[in-house]
Amino acid sequence: MENKLDGNAAGGILQAIFPFDMTLAQATCAGCGTTNAMGALAVYMHGMGTVIRCPSCDTVLIRVAQIHGDYWLDMRGVRILQISAGA
Ligand SMILES: [Zn+2]
Repeated sequence: MENKLDGNAAGGILQAIFPFDMTLAQATCAGCGTTNAMGALAVYMHGMGTVIRCPSCDTVLIRVAQIHGDYWLDMRGVRILQISAGA
């Protein structure tokens, strides 16, 4: 069971990990090379955690899980993550 949401829904958990507004960060997909703001990506929330997918090719960009107080980030689907330090 999973709920599809927009990228802003992942802002909360990413905000807990990164000291930036991650909805404004630009992620380049390792699958198709498309670059999107994190807030424009497709987010699926379910029991195993948060899955962020490319809206163009459906590649899994980022998986975030919180297990026993630790955050586990799988970012193999992101070729480049561009974060504005001024945001
Ligand atoms: Zn893609």
